Amino acid sequence: MEDSRELNGNLAIKDETPVPSPYDASWVQATLCNISHLISPSVLLVGEPQLRMTCESVALEDIKCEKFLEEKYRLHRALMEFRNVNGFGRSIAAPQIGVTKRFLAINMGKGMGMILLSRNSNVSVYFTGPFTLINPTITFKSEKLISLWDDCMSFPFLLVRKQRHASVSVKFVDDEGVTHEWKDLDTATSELLQHEIDHLDGILALDEPFGKNGIVSREVYEKNREYFDREVDYVIEPTI
Ligand SMILES: [Zn+2]
Repeated sequence: MEDSRELNGNLAIKDETPVPSPYDASWVQATLCNISHLISPSVLLVGEPQLRMTCESVALEDIKCEKFLEEKYRLHRALMEFRNVNGFGRSIAAPQIGVTKRFLAINMGKGMGMILLSRNSNVSVYFTGPFTLINPTITFKSEKLISLWDDCMSFPFLLVRKQRHASVSVKFVDDEGVTHEWKDLDTATSELLQHEIDHLDGILALDEPFGKNGIVSREVYEKNREYFDREVDYVIEPTI
């Protein structure tokens, strides 16, 4: 079909219609209901040693193993609960619930879900709700840099001014063990994945604030949002 584009092996887009994917919100929701017996995972706060560890890659043969599946569902559940309670939170890395393995749960949320916009090809891919990135690595970083106020579920009471690459490309494995590469991602997805992949190497946004007075309490930021947002050239859009 002329107007459809095959992307990333199992995702396609035709006339910008959302395409069901293995990451469909109903998939995670149904799975989360099935594991309601699991103890609600708590998100580790800054200072916990697991947040500083370099995480191990997930072995491909483990992707369908019970242990990994349980860890993955716990991570999705932690993200869902955090979003419900706090009204923000687009993603979480496994070490944030004490699992020192290289995978992320993401939910760019709000109705339609996540929109990935490739800078160069001008093609959008829509995701409906949560999905998983296993062993993600950055394969390209743009020269162009942006500054923004970043937050984190492990220090939700703080905002940190960061400088990040405006666009990155990311390679990862999906829930089925298939490798994908997302090229030239839009700024929202790029800054998010730089933050999350740093977590897998024990790096927190707090480690390298950009510029003077680069760490502020959320309370102070909320009170003077316009002032602080004028200091940066990119502002994160709410997803809830
Ligand atoms: Zn974080």
